[in-house]
Amino acid sequence: MSQLILPKVFIIGESKIDSVGLQQLLNHLSVPAWKSDADTDVEKLLEVYGRACYKSFDVILNPNLTRVRKHNDEYIKNIIEKGDGSVLEHGMINFFFADVSRVFTHELVRHRVGTAISQESLRFVRLTDLNWYAPICIQEDVQAMEIFSRTLNSLSQLQKDLADLYNIDNMSFEKKKELTSAFRRLAPDGLATNIGWSANIRTIRHVLEMRTNPSAEEEIRLVFSQVGKLMRERYKTLFDDYETEIVNGIDWYKTKHRKV
Ligand SMILES: Cc1cc2nc3c(=O)[nH]c(=O)nc-3n(C[C@H](O)[C@H](O)[C@H](O)COP(=O)(O)OP(=O)(O)OC[C@H]3O[C@@H](n4cnc5c(N)ncnc54)[C@H](O)[C@@H]3O)c2cc1C
Repeated sequence: MSQLILPKVFIIGESKIDSVGLQQLLNHLSVPAWKSDADTDVEKLLEVYGRACYKSFDVILNPNLTRVRKHNDEYIKNIIEKGDGSVLEHGMINFFFADVSRVFTHELVRHRVGTAISQESLRFVRLTDLNWYAPICIQEDVQAMEIFSRTLNSLSQLQKDLADLYNIDNMSFEKKKELTSAFRRLAPDGLATNIGWSANIRTIRHVLEMRTNPSAEEEIRLVFSQVGKLMRERYKTLFDDYETEIVNGIDWYKTKHRKV
């Protein structure tokens, strides 16, 4: 039986500081006592790269400087206000989007810059029960829900019937792959699948703004509103400039610093 499901967002990794290497660099730059009050490694890393540009760890390194920002949050906020977005590219976050449709994944992969993608292969992974997300306009209509449910169950059965027809379990792996890829042609765009997505902070901000906008498709709005919530909880300074407005039940993330 196919099942109605919701897309899910997991954070499975993030950039980490190598404290020994960083200390070696600070020694080399003659600021061995420099400390950051950043809450996370990602925010500290961005501060280090940013300060390295102007040697602004302290006023002693660059005779052109008379003062430097003391705190990580004011430093990062200034980068975002000025639009020095390239500094944000040093921090990578590793996401996993589970139970998302191929409608969603087709849209996600259009964002090429600053990303890495690993998508579940439906040549290798044989489809059985096709789980699915119901957009709100379908959820609101009992008959439409019944049609979706019936069709997804029927398409799930079709996958199993084709597997039986070819006795696929007794085939070589190469033949299984060929048949699995042939059968998936009869699966809908709406089937739930998985995709791993890593992106730098600049890209996450860009995609968050584009894909929670009310003009974007519902499922990608839903996923990126979860991304926005997780990012704001974890990296407060990097996402502090966003305001949210709920449109059709989903948060729209807006900032006056769109150019970053
Ligand atoms: C509401 C909505 C509807 C859409 N509808 C359609 C549709 O009907 N058909 C369709 O094909 N697509 C559609 N798209 C996808 C859209 O056209 C973009 O491909 C997608 O949003 C990726 O965004 P991006 O161009 O910012 O690329 P990203 O890869 O996210 O790039 C980020 C930024 O880097 C810069 N950049 C990226 N690549 C280059 C480059 N080669 N040269 C110079 N600068 C570059 C640009 O400033 C870009 O904004 C839609 C997107 C949205 C949000």
